[in-house]
Amino acid sequence: MTFISLASSSKGNAYLVSSGSTTILLEAGLSMKELRRRSPVQISSLNAVFITHEHMDHAKCAKKLCDVGVPAYMSEGTAIALDLEDANIIDSHESVEIGTLKITAFDTYHNTAQPFGYAIEDANTKERLLFAVDTVNLNVRWSGLTQVAIECNYADELLGRLSRLPDKVKERIRRSHMEIETAIKYLHKLDLRNVRTIYLLHMSSSSGDAGRFLDRFEREFPGINIHICAE
Ligand SMILES: [Zn+2]
Ligand SMILES: [Zn+2]
Repeated sequence: MTFISLASSSKGNAYLVSSGSTTILLEAGLSMKELRRRSPVQISSLNAVFITHEHMDHAKCAKKLCDVGVPAYMSEGTAIALDLEDANIIDSHESVEIGTLKITAFDTYHNTAQPFGYAIEDANTKERLLFAVDTVNLNVRWSGLTQVAIECNYADELLGRLSRLPDKVKERIRRSHMEIETAIKYLHKLDLRNVRTIYLLHMSSSSGDAGRFLDRFEREFPGINIHICAE
């Protein structure tokens, strides 16, 4: 099962997960034109798209994807917020089988109606990916993980130092996005024995630092590939 980031920041998010025979998109936070430009696979050949929440950097082309026949899955709260009548509604902890992939929704913690993260399992290889973005923290415990794609938005020290950012905005970020130490603490609670790659998502350009984050994760999780997904 492959995980490819097409875009990962507050400017737009889109990720491809493929078992070879089945390919799904996670997030639709680009224009259709930009999604087509960045995607190595034909948009019409996507088996489904799963959306985590209604913010435009995650859902910009959700309606257009529905219009071209790509089934879109999300929580009821997200579908209502997006006013998307064609959405396929799933509940938290519900699983959906799309070809050889099994996708299970779980709750995340963000300033939106009903945000979800997704665990994706390949029925043939039994690989399992945890995907969670735009969430203050997480409390799900998955076993048998082989890949983790998790938000690592900011370092509190760097955020605190941003003098041009009003305190109100800093507080909003702290209440809606994941700090690096929170991500590390959470990952240590998981069984990482079979995890080969940790993908860090949605890094802030002003209160994140790719070099520093990479260094910190590599020291904290020796033997696991750490990959910072670019804008
Ligand atoms: Zn976002
Ligand atoms: Zn968001």
